[in-house]
Amino acid sequence: MKFETRQIHAGLNTGEPTGSRGVAIYPTAAYRFQSCDHAARLFELSEAGNIYTRLQNPTTTAYEERIAALYGAVGALAVSSGMSAILLTVLSLAQKGDNIVASPYLYGGTYNQFRHSLDKLGIEVRIARSLDAADFEAQVDPHTKALYVESMGNPTCTVPDLEALARVARNHDLPFVVDNTFGAAGYLCNPFDWGANIVVDSATKWINGHGTAMGGVIVDGGNYNWRNGKFPQIDGPSEGYHGLNLAENFGAAAFVAKCRVDGLRDFGCCPSPFDAYLMMIGLETLSLRVKHEVESTWRLAEYCRSHPMVERVSFVGFESHPSCENARKYYRFGSSAVFAIELKGTLESTARFVENLRLAAHMTMIGDSITVVTHPASTTHKQLSDEDLRAAGVTPTLLRISLGLEHPDDLIADFEQALQSLAQ
Ligand code: PLP
Repeated sequence: MKFETRQIHAGLNTGEPTGSRGVAIYPTAAYRFQSCDHAARLFELSEAGNIYTRLQNPTTTAYEERIAALYGAVGALAVSSGMSAILLTVLSLAQKGDNIVASPYLYGGTYNQFRHSLDKLGIEVRIARSLDAADFEAQVDPHTKALYVESMGNPTCTVPDLEALARVARNHDLPFVVDNTFGAAGYLCNPFDWGANIVVDSATKWINGHGTAMGGVIVDGGNYNWRNGKFPQIDGPSEGYHGLNLAENFGAAAFVAKCRVDGLRDFGCCPSPFDAYLMMIGLETLSLRVKHEVESTWRLAEYCRSHPMVERVSFVGFESHPSCENARKYYRFGSSAVFAIELKGTLESTARFVENLRLAAHMTMIGDSITVVTHPASTTHKQLSDEDLRAAGVTPTLLRISLGLEHPDDLIADFEQALQSLAQ
């Protein structure tokens, strides 16, 4: 079935005894066992079932099934934020002494997690010099455990050549991990179509779509051979489960199982069932929202391009953007609902423009139903050094704009009055 149908129907239990159309919210931490034998079987993973909401919950399971169906994947795991999805993914792949090779175009929070927090755990993240396949390849060594990119970099909207990087990963027998937050759960971009093995996603953004909950997902393409000797923590005796071999037991879905049974169990970043419910509601209108937002992005980007107080518009839909060609190849409509502008002026005048906006909200958020304007230099990227800021393409007057569901005429009017008040 098409994406639009799957986003409503996948994960619904039509055999539910109450006949309820909606997904039930199970606000429970634990589940009664039928017997001690039953409990033992659940704990040793020889039988599937509910143990404790840190590991799984029926509302969350429905949401995970919907996500997996949207991606055409073998399984998905919902977690409490995008950052925890990234963390669990990397910790499930790499151990002390290992490294991963990552894109230089990363969300600021991911960059910090990679460069600072993971480093302290003994996992090295090697940032490639560029998105060229050769620059990724140059960093790979026998301790490399994954290649990592964002399908559209935040905030520069740089789109890697996913197919070329998937080839590098395949040549070195490495999993290719893609943060597909901008790809809207596969509606705009599905990295599995281009050779990705694992997708992570900040569900806080387009999946939820209304700015009402935090969440992340890890999606398993089921297309990586974990039995190649590189991942003893997946294909080897599992210490926490009496020597159980996850690759043997869970087959194609071994990775997502690893993230759940070790990752969630030990690190505890589970979502609340209520938030899983909100994500499911968000998913029902995902394609409609995103299509409107992308159309509005084109309108507002064109308006900004023609405005004398705008120095530069960086919109991946325009040919002037270095990733235009890749966006046309990998993203439906050739763009996402995010673009950036650089105003003429200074950091201070840019801050004044942001404060003069009446409709667009000043927040650090993307994928919300409200249009959001963010000033990366004073917010998301504030911790970066000047050199790292330059490398990430962040300047003092850069603004990231994420289109919401308002009418684009009203947004253009809001920008017009804010720009006019700068000129006065
Ligand atoms: N990945 C990308 C591309 C993001 O833009 C973000 C947040 O903006 C994250 C991950 C982190 O997600 P969360 O804020 O849900 O932890």
